[in-house]
Amino acid sequence: MAKGTLHRDEGVVLRTYKLGEADRIVVLLTRGRGKVRAVAKGVRKTKSKFGARLEPTSHVAVQLYEGRELDIVTQAESIDQFRAVRADLDRIARASTMLETADQLAQQGEVYPRLYQMLVGALRTLEGSESPLVLPAFLLKVLALEGYRPEVERCVQCGDGGPLVAFDDESGGLLCRSCRRGTAVSPEAVALLQRILGGRLNEALAEPPSPAAHEVDHLATRSVEHHLERRLRSVTVLDH
Ligand SMILES: [Zn+2]
Repeated sequence: MAKGTLHRDEGVVLRTYKLGEADRIVVLLTRGRGKVRAVAKGVRKTKSKFGARLEPTSHVAVQLYEGRELDIVTQAESIDQFRAVRADLDRIARASTMLETADQLAQQGEVYPRLYQMLVGALRTLEGSESPLVLPAFLLKVLALEGYRPEVERCVQCGDGGPLVAFDDESGGLLCRSCRRGTAVSPEAVALLQRILGGRLNEALAEPPSPAAHEVDHLATRSVEHHLERRLRSVTVLDH
């Protein structure tokens, strides 16, 4: 695309940081152009037109002017404001982990239509649900999108149908009694993992919070960290 052109796009604000006295850099995951860094001029002044619309988690329709080094935000209209998320510290923390994960996965110059769709979907689910499973469900689906869908239906080592009693990141899923290694997992957490990855997320979200939900949260967070670290290491190796 030629420099100096205007683009209309939709995006989620992943993070922002200060630039000079009054401006802010906004990092967006956009539907059409992947991860974009753009300057929002004057947003830190009190009379800014769109400062409040460009906070982390904001889902916006934007017009971007493609500058020489950085894009410039020339318009921003809210699509989703996620008021319930922003009013609740637990949900803010979950949303922040979603944004960080998307930020770490998305490389500039590539497009991520599916990740974008999943992020918007997860934020909308979070807006309507206090379930502790919204975040781990997003993380598990991100892993699947990256080609690391954990095996949760049978033992990842020997294929046995169960009972499945442990979860191991290196092996890539649940393990039976004979193959067990990694973290012990309760039968309730196994059932939740199977619902989330088996297309029955709504059923899982309708359940009251339980210790099993926290187990799943912990497993999913650690799996994503494990995957991201391994990827960062492989990128570092390729760079040398
Ligand atoms: Zn086994």
